[in-house]
Amino acid sequence: MTGILVFCRNCGKQVASAEMRDGLCLDCRVSASLAELRREHARLWRKRERYRSSGANFDSIGRQVARVENRMAEKIRELVSNDKQAGEYLKRELEAARGARYTISRS
Ligand SMILES: [Zn+2]
Repeated sequence: MTGILVFCRNCGKQVASAEMRDGLCLDCRVSASLAELRREHARLWRKRERYRSSGANFDSIGRQVARVENRMAEKIRELVSNDKQAGEYLKRELEAARGARYTISRS
């Protein structure tokens, strides 16, 4: 099984067939399954920025952002059985999400 290499139909990367599901590599599956949560994260962050700039209390939105981040972690753990690898995926996703909101907050 592990000796067979196949191409991911989304990114074209060559990976072991054991890592492949529905023609997609793990990277693409993680990315696809998080798409909705990533949008939700961005939406909440923009809302938080609006509240903050208007002087309103944004604690509750901060908690919603934390909940979305927890759901992202759960989704990654569902897809990635290796704990260390799951941690790396989560770190990367959160950095990307926070990086995006950093860009938003500066623009
Ligand atoms: Zn891929």
